[in-house]
Amino acid sequence: MMKPILAIIIPCFNEELSIEITVNKLFDVINDLIQKGKISENSYFYIIDDGSKDKTWEIIETLHSKHPQVKGLKFIRNYGNQKAIIAGLEGVRELGCDCVVSIDADLQQDEWAIEKFVDKFHAGYDIVAGIRNDRDTDSVFKKYTALGFYKTMNLLGVHIPQNHSDYRLVSKRALDIMEQFPEKQLFLRGFFNELGLKTAYVKFDVKPRMQGESKFNFRSLMGLALNGITSFSIVPLRIIAVLGFIMAIFGFGLGIEVIVEKYFLHSTPKGWATMVCLMSVFGGLQMFSLGIIGEYVGQVYREVKARPRYIKDIELK
Ligand code: UDP
Ligand code: MG
Repeated sequence: MMKPILAIIIPCFNEELSIEITVNKLFDVINDLIQKGKISENSYFYIIDDGSKDKTWEIIETLHSKHPQVKGLKFIRNYGNQKAIIAGLEGVRELGCDCVVSIDADLQQDEWAIEKFVDKFHAGYDIVAGIRNDRDTDSVFKKYTALGFYKTMNLLGVHIPQNHSDYRLVSKRALDIMEQFPEKQLFLRGFFNELGLKTAYVKFDVKPRMQGESKFNFRSLMGLALNGITSFSIVPLRIIAVLGFIMAIFGFGLGIEVIVEKYFLHSTPKGWATMVCLMSVFGGLQMFSLGIIGEYVGQVYREVKARPRYIKDIELK
């Protein structure tokens, strides 16, 4: 049996409290898998410091000097978790590996599921996606917004399984395919799901965050969700067109009704309440529609500028 080189990538943003503990726990997993002959002894870590303001990078440097298997990359500023994961995938592709697992620095995901990921890889799967067993560790707000997001995405024709996470294994082959997608705003959960490569799903347990706080806030989560939608679906634009059409027909009908009232029924004009309601409803709909179009224009704008996804500061190989 060939022993694949496994790379583990960990995006980090202000994770000075977690990162060392996490790497040590993951070493247990890797060493166990090496011992069982499931992965190569050349397996390694690639930690991406997403512009942390704390001691995260110093800790990564120390880990690197102690264990050559720990490699790292430092961004010049914070680019967000998706960019950090993409940088990790691109980085380990260059360093060389047969498969790569991405996992959060707070180790909320059960690290022992990696063995199941690797087993699926051996069974010929190119993508093994982690599916969270439940969302008990999330706040009620996050639970429902996340659920709403996956429901919306599915309605819009982007089929991401619910409770999908960025905890997944992808093969070298999938990495090579990813390189052929020049778009900058990749939404990884949608992307890997859409490629059409052989995909397996593995359920895992979520633990509460041990150290530090969640590095996502309402704004970054909304950004992630909007990016996920606008980079994968044009259905919202179609909905606007359909709404506009229905409204136009309605307006036309209303016009006829007004003419009939005025010239045939000679009834007094209706009160202004109806007018005000209609105006505010339609005004609101128009603003909302413009906002949706704006999101897509923004997406085009960002892609057209073709800026690099992220800028590397230091890389430890
Ligand atoms: N993260 C990152 N850049 C950011 C925000 C988060 O690299 O701008 C990392 C973070 O360090 C962690 C992972 O993304 O390893 C998931 O973040 P977190 O655990 O805070 O999110 P949650 O579990 O609350 O969804
Ligand atoms: Mg977390």
